[in-house]
Amino acid sequence: MAILHEPQVELIAWTGFAKPEGYPWTTDSERDGERLIEFAGRMCYQSWDNPSGRTNREYIQNLLKQGHLSVLEHAQASFAISGISRSCSHELVRHRHFSFSQLSQRYVAEDEANFVEPSVIASDPRTHAIFVEAVEAARQAYIRLNELLEEKFSHIPSRVERRKLARQAARAVLPNATETKLVMTGNLRAWRHFLRLRASRHAEAEIRKVALLIYQKLLELAPAVFSDFQVTCGADGVTELITPYTAD
Ligand SMILES: Cc1cc2nc3c(=O)[nH]c(=O)nc-3n(C[C@H](O)[C@H](O)[C@H](O)COP(=O)(O)OP(=O)(O)OC[C@H]3O[C@@H](n4cnc5c(N)ncnc54)[C@H](O)[C@@H]3O)c2cc1C
Repeated sequence: MAILHEPQVELIAWTGFAKPEGYPWTTDSERDGERLIEFAGRMCYQSWDNPSGRTNREYIQNLLKQGHLSVLEHAQASFAISGISRSCSHELVRHRHFSFSQLSQRYVAEDEANFVEPSVIASDPRTHAIFVEAVEAARQAYIRLNELLEEKFSHIPSRVERRKLARQAARAVLPNATETKLVMTGNLRAWRHFLRLRASRHAEAEIRKVALLIYQKLLELAPAVFSDFQVTCGADGVTELITPYTAD
């Protein structure tokens, strides 16, 4: 059992773009997602020539300004996220425009589960001690329940089925702090909406950390789509993202 404090976010997939023949258009961005967004936007008005010499960034900034955000939906990014608690994942999965694949507590044993400790608890030895004691007690209860339940289901021939039945019940005693892992995929419009809500100071601290890590990766991938977000740190030490655009 480990006590975790920092989420891990890895970019694992990103949109590719292959410009088709027959479109008299060039752009200055070499990033596939940005090129795809501009291509899709220009498809609407067949505006393949660019007499004003607009850069890709200017083109996308104009989409953001106009609130023409459906064009952003063509590009998407997938992240592998670990070191987060089940309470954080519960908040993540509320976002309905994403696809998720999450560690199953019915199929995967949690005997050696890790637990995510909120920084505010970790910062005080007294609260930290209570946390460690509570999660270890929960883990021991889970292990014991699993053993007894597997005995109870011993008449079931399939070992996989027996374990699933035991684990799905025993997990009831695991806390919100139990670590989970998941893959989260969404398009850039959805990611912008997610960042506005979850990298805000009003968001819970753990999901805000996750959102800020995701923002850094997205900013590298498609600066034209995310550079309106500014990282700010208030007098209270809370780091958040703010953007002048309110359209979703
Ligand atoms: C600070 C904070 C506190 C929160 N507190 C609570 C809480 O106490 N209790 C609680 O239950 N939840 C809470 N939430 C979660 C919140 O209610 C949303 O479920 C979550 O933020 C997902 O965002 P969203 O609803 O904008 O939708 P998403 O699923 O991210 O969808 C994006 C947008 O698509 C549109 N959309 C999606 N689905 C529909 C639909 N079915 N019909 C119409 N339009 C749709 C909406 O415009 C929506 O804004 C909180 C969220 C935040 C950020």
